[in-house]
Amino acid sequence: MKIVLLGAPGAGKGTYASKLKKMYDIPHISTGDLLREAIKEGTSTGLKAKTYMNKGEFVPDEIIVDLLKERLDQSDAGNGMLLDGFPRTIKQAKILDEIIGIRGVLKFNLERDVVLKRLGGRIICKGCGEIFNKHKLPPKQEGICDHCEDDLYQRDDDKEDSIAKRLKIYDTQTKPLVEHYKNKNILHNVDANIDMIDPECNVIRDCEDILNDIKSKI
Ligand code: ADP
Repeated sequence: MKIVLLGAPGAGKGTYASKLKKMYDIPHISTGDLLREAIKEGTSTGLKAKTYMNKGEFVPDEIIVDLLKERLDQSDAGNGMLLDGFPRTIKQAKILDEIIGIRGVLKFNLERDVVLKRLGGRIICKGCGEIFNKHKLPPKQEGICDHCEDDLYQRDDDKEDSIAKRLKIYDTQTKPLVEHYKNKNILHNVDANIDMIDPECNVIRDCEDILNDIKSKI
């Protein structure tokens, strides 16, 4: 089941994917996470990507496509994946069409003020990557992960200037993908305006209905 998750930065793609990947036993492949890992490991790809990412700009296609292909070649991606953060442009969508056949696209829809609150409050665990929110989903102990007790941090690109830039780029470059996938008849809309994040929430249920339907047709 090869699925693309689409939605503005802060739409909650990563949070929902961490639940859905367990339900469907397919990996969550986030190009943002792959890049952040490369930066953490200090690879030459990481070094090249860092300056673009911190400014909230897109990393050049040749860097991101190589990284993605390498990840898709790993054995756990054999039965499908939840692809998050790629494609981000029509050009990347065409590249993806040549690499793998996407079965469905989940488009998370939400109001801009909800997006801003989410991004401004987002804090992430350095150890396990779990996502919290200072306002809406605070950890039990400030600055400490509930699960692995490692430190929580704010991403450089979740600071105010970068957020505005990322949203503008999303509107101009990524939103046109909605039409692209609508024309292919594989676009599914999910209302993600809710603030509550738990396994039983409506967003996960809606995603499950869509994914079960896609799975039954494979
Ligand atoms: P978000 O969706 O919250 O903006 P991501 O973790 O998906 O964050 O991406 C963080 C950054 O990584 C992006 O702002 C961009 O610099 C880079 N990036 C991730 N995916 C891509 C991609 N497909 N093409 C170009 N740059 C990318």
